[in-house]
Amino acid sequence: MTITIDTPVRALPGAGPIRAKQLEEAGLATAGDLIYYLPYRYEDRRHPVRIADVGRHTDTPVLLRGKVMSANLHTTRLKRMKVFEVVLEDGTGAVKLVWFNQGFLGDQIRRGDRLAVFGTPKISSYGQLQIESADWEKFEGDDEADGAIVPIYSKVGNIPPKALRQIIGGALNALPTLDDPLAPALRKRLGVIDLAPALEQIHRPPQLDDAFLFRRSRAHVRIILQEFFTLQLALRVRRATEEVKTKTRKIKVDDELRAEVKRVLPFRLTKAQKRVLKEIATDLQSEKPMYRLLEGDVGSGKTIVALIAAIIMIRNGHQVALLAPTEILAEQHYQRIRQLLDDSVVVAKATGSMTAGERRTLLAGLRDGFIQLAVGTHALLEDRIVFKSLGLAIVDEQHRFGVEQRQRLFAKGDTPDILVMTATPIPRSLALAMYGDLELSVIDELPPGRQQIKTAVRAPEQIERVYHFIDTEITAGAQAYIVYPIIEESEKSNLKPLTIGFEATKMRFPNRRVAMMHGRMPPAEKEETMQRFKRGEIDILVSTTVIEVGIDVANASFMLIIDADRFGLSQLHQLRGRVGRGTRHSYCVLVADKEKDRLTQFAKTLNGFDLADLDLKLRGPGELLGTRQSGAMRFRFGHIVRDIALMEKARDLAIEIIEKDGVTKAEKIVQKLLGVPVPASVKD
Ligand code: ADP
Ligand code: MG
Repeated sequence: MTITIDTPVRALPGAGPIRAKQLEEAGLATAGDLIYYLPYRYEDRRHPVRIADVGRHTDTPVLLRGKVMSANLHTTRLKRMKVFEVVLEDGTGAVKLVWFNQGFLGDQIRRGDRLAVFGTPKISSYGQLQIESADWEKFEGDDEADGAIVPIYSKVGNIPPKALRQIIGGALNALPTLDDPLAPALRKRLGVIDLAPALEQIHRPPQLDDAFLFRRSRAHVRIILQEFFTLQLALRVRRATEEVKTKTRKIKVDDELRAEVKRVLPFRLTKAQKRVLKEIATDLQSEKPMYRLLEGDVGSGKTIVALIAAIIMIRNGHQVALLAPTEILAEQHYQRIRQLLDDSVVVAKATGSMTAGERRTLLAGLRDGFIQLAVGTHALLEDRIVFKSLGLAIVDEQHRFGVEQRQRLFAKGDTPDILVMTATPIPRSLALAMYGDLELSVIDELPPGRQQIKTAVRAPEQIERVYHFIDTEITAGAQAYIVYPIIEESEKSNLKPLTIGFEATKMRFPNRRVAMMHGRMPPAEKEETMQRFKRGEIDILVSTTVIEVGIDVANASFMLIIDADRFGLSQLHQLRGRVGRGTRHSYCVLVADKEKDRLTQFAKTLNGFDLADLDLKLRGPGELLGTRQSGAMRFRFGHIVRDIALMEKARDLAIEIIEKDGVTKAEKIVQKLLGVPVPASVKD
């Protein structure tokens, strides 16, 4: 029988009806599915060790082969645990093999059997050399375990590993019928080998050299690049099909405009700010719409760069929208812009708490173009908001700016330019994967004269000393934040730790002005509290993470974070960034009794990009982005950190294809790529 990728698993050698059913339940219905089911590791069983030499190999896995001299199952008296013991002998010596709680082995391994065993010799607590919980296989003559590199697959049902290998081995006969979704010319441009040999090599590696083990072999590169390229090209195609229109507006930056910008600036821009400003200005003047991500550490000065971009757009006769994630931030931006630009630009605020009259004025002003800059929350995206000529949309402090929001913005203007700013730095690897269709500008420098924020980790028992210090600081004129780890504020009951903390703080600081803030408060009340804090009428603000993003109160110099282990490092960094904004010595104290190592690392690291990298390694992309639906970041074979160079390559080729081959061709390629399964190497 010839096997093709459509051959059902039940027709494969070694797969009877029961195993076939288990495979199907795991989503593996055909030979083609099995071809894409890749091993997650390998065992080199080519070089068996003589049992006499086992003692020299403790703590490294070895392959042994021998005959079972005795096999017996007994139950420990104390814990009633089943212990199965085998003595294996190979003519040079004997060694004891032990399995716990696997009583069924008694029926499977018997005296006289010949076994290939793969496991790690250890000295037991009784000083005996033995191998616990070894992988084993019976062998006769030239069995596969007899000197091979063995692929290890994730378990499917209760199919024994060896049987699974046999079934998959049969499925590999279908490889010649596999259709390569990358045409030869594309393979050449990507510099990758054909799909069938790549998959074959991953199932049956010819050798286990470093390139292979570190997933750098030509076979791995082929499959990882295919996965990344599919994403990058799909992102680019989506973007290109949305932007069929080129911009009709012509933006010019002349000397007069440059002089105005200089006048407005209260300080000199850093080198990094100048560089990214140039990148943005070039985009604004190009006929292709800008879609750019502006990254920078907390306090690196992203806002001013965005504002200059706004001035350029406004002076060229178009409107600008600035979207903030919260009303507090929108208000803060509004105030700062008013301060910076005086009356030279007509600025309006758009929030959910506007009165009917204010709303009417806003709608009319945006429609007839009188309002040049609208600052607001996502309320700005509502359908009834219509701009006369929206040229630029700035999205501030947004971890995830979705396609849907972008489309709404596009619908509001003549393909507006878009600038997205992130709250905390995202590692380049993650930015490429998540925002692969955005151009990237990075401010990698802080303005001069920044305070170093002293960071310390304290146990809950030590909190009194921290309070004492806060009290001294307040006497000296400082203000403090105390933050509780309430992230999900939708449930009222979840606020309990905060309200208890608030009461406790008031009791501990009877002579201080203490206030509380959380996301469930009415916007006006939040705003009022924030303004009072800004005016110095509150000494201690007890809050949830609503103060996390962007809040700028220069006199606040103490940040106390309770149960800090519940936060990701990037989020802690964002919170820490709320202090150190003025001239005062600033402090951040983390209170926790868990995860001391991680938090101590944090205390030592002041650079947000480094912390983001660390966070990505320790907690993964989902946690870093503060979102559980980071499905797009979970690649099935590639790894965003390890394989960043391949991600860049994939992105570059995706851009090239859109530009040289056109969107229609690119779309066809994407469809083909999306039509095939993504090879997965899953460890359950
Ligand atoms: P973030 O990048 O976190 O949004 P901001 O834009 O809020 O940072 O800037 C942080 C603070 O630094 C603000 O008070 C801002 O006025 C100030 N700032 C920005 N750029 C400079 C600069 N080049 N020199 C001095 N201060 C600056
Ligand atoms: Mg900011």
